[in-house]
This record gives sequence, C-alpha cells and structure tokens, in this order.
Amino acid sequence: MRYLILSDIHGNRGALDAALTAAEGAWDKAVCLGDIVGYGPDPNETTECVRSLGAISIRGNHDRAASGVTDAEDFNPIARQAVLWTRNRLRPENLEYLSTLPQGPVELDGFAIAHGAPQDEDEYVFAPEQARQVLREAPAAVTFCGHTHIQGGFALREGKMQTLHFRPSGGKPFAALRVEDGTEYLLNPGSVGQPRDGDARAAFAIADLALGKTVEFWRVSYDVASVQARMKSAGLPEPLISRLAAGR
Ligand code: ZN
Repeated sequence: MRYLILSDIHGNRGALDAALTAAEGAWDKAVCLGDIVGYGPDPNETTECVRSLGAISIRGNHDRAASGVTDAEDFNPIARQAVLWTRNRLRPENLEYLSTLPQGPVELDGFAIAHGAPQDEDEYVFAPEQARQVLREAPAAVTFCGHTHIQGGFALREGKMQTLHFRPSGGKPFAALRVEDGTEYLLNPGSVGQPRDGDARAAFAIADLALGKTVEFWRVSYDVASVQARMKSAGLPEPLISRLAAGR
C-alpha cells in the first residue's frame, strides 16, 4: 500500500490541487496529519477535498480552533485573525467534520501519524535532542508528524541521531529515503499550503513501507500569486500573504 501523506494544507486549494495532480497514480490511500484549514483562502474547498479523498485524518491545532473545539487564545494575533475568518466561512458540514477529527497519534499499517509530537499534538519538534525524546516513546518505528511546516526528519539508529534533509534532484519531483530495519524515524512530509523551510513549493510525501521500504519527499510548484490575490481580496493579514512566496 502506497500512502499519500499530506499535512498543513492550511486552506490553500491551489497548492493542494498541484500536489494531487503531480501525485496522481502514485498512491493508494491518503492520510492527513492535520491543519486542513487556517491561514489560507479556501477552507471549505480544502476540507471537502480531503473528505472526498477518503483520507484518514487527525486534527491540527488550527482545525481545532477553527471548528470551535478550542478557542484561539494561545494563537498569535495574526493566526487568530485567520482562525476567526476561517470559522466564519466554514459551512456547517465542514465545521462538523473538522470538529470530530481525532487527536493523534493514530497507528496505521506499520506506522503512526501525529500532528506535532505524538506525546503532545501542539509540540513543535525542531531539534535532534527533542526528537530523541519523542522517538523513545514513539508508537511505531516510523512516525509521521507535521506542525513545523519543515520537510525532513530524524533517524535514530543504535543511539545515534541523524537529521534528515531532502531536496529533489536529477529532474525528479521527489527525493527518496530508504527505510532501514533497526532504525526509528520521525518524518515530516512538510506543509502543502504554507511551507516554512525556505522552499515555497507545496510539500508532501508518499510512503511505501511494506514493499518498497521507501518514503518519497515531494516538492511541487503551484501558482502562488493567484492564491495570494484571493487572500488579499478576502482581507487576510498581509504577513500570511507575503510568506507564501518566501516559503518562510
Ligand atoms: Zn500548521
């Protein structure tokens, strides 16, 4: 089974469409690590797309706040403004869907998914020492998490921690990781709709852990300017608009 691993779509339908077009035929089942909405101009469209894919999804902090499961008090003012904008626009059936998404971690077929750290859905995992702690109690040998919007991850083998970075080369849209037995992985597919790793292209992963034992880390260009134009006419905060082009 080849899993399409999506995370942090953030209401960006342009990025999601480009990712799905590029990945067409390369996956069997879709998984989403949360933050389907928040920041971007298309909360209904991205939610309906994830639903129509039949994706197994867990909630992110933005899904939780936008659907009213929690308030947005711990968000910064700009993120809070976008959350409230999103909440006002979500159709009732999409609000209902987002409010009932389960909290991670969820264990699937040989791997686990979480939004932030498996032990705390709101924790950002940036540093190797943090990842070591997380992997010590990880529910599976391979755990996918999102939240930081940074594609990459960590591998722990015989006590040695390695930080993983991926950059597609050789004309391919993805860089592949070979998954080794005896190694534990914490892998971030990156953000579809608001990358923050210096690369503005939509990020996602495709995992084949049973047969191929590989995880592909994809980057796909999309029409950033048209998404920015729709954000502008929607009145969304300027810093959220400009960061899409910078990928930061
Ligand atoms: Zn996010």
